[in-house]
Amino acid sequence: MSDTRPAIETLISEEDIAGRVAGLADEIAESADKNFLIVVILKGSFVFAADLIRALERVGVEPQVDFMTLSSYGTGTESSGSVALVRDISEDVAGRDVLVVDDILESGRTLAYACDLMRARGASKVRTCLLLDKTGKRSVPIEADYCGFEIGDRFVVGYGLDYAHHYRGLPYIAVVQR
Ligand code: 5GP
Ligand code: MG
Repeated sequence: MSDTRPAIETLISEEDIAGRVAGLADEIAESADKNFLIVVILKGSFVFAADLIRALERVGVEPQVDFMTLSSYGTGTESSGSVALVRDISEDVAGRDVLVVDDILESGRTLAYACDLMRARGASKVRTCLLLDKTGKRSVPIEADYCGFEIGDRFVVGYGLDYAHHYRGLPYIAVVQR
């Protein structure tokens, strides 16, 4: 078994990510019910979520946080097409204002699955915050309420995102050379 990492190239720098995360926190702070619940979709968005809740704290917003693990990718670079609920949240979302936080919006299946589940459980409001949006790749009609950056059709790693478990800890976002 080889553990050679594929070559990468920087796409979005640490500074640009930090600036945009602060901007997202400002946008969310403008419209948020002060008592909302963030549902973080693991694994890819844990780094983004950690920075986002600290950016929200800086602008006086203190959401509750819970975590859900959804899986659609396996270890490759193509989505498998079906979403599996690997680990559920523990909070009751009935009557709650929920902000679903995920890393990348591609086909839209992962985000649609999470939002549908929150609504089916009686959430009073469901909004979405995505770090990255691969526009033009959607197979389900869904858009993010808050979006960090639009990127093209390329496979990215870093800032929590992996390629077969590589590069999750990279402090910036990079493109895998294919
Ligand atoms: P969707 O369900 O919208 O097709 O895919 C979204 C999920 O696929 C994201 O939450 C993310 O986990 C994964 N994903 C999509 N594109 C990429 C990518 O370029 N890099 C990595 N590491 N994961 C991706
Ligand atoms: Mg994901």
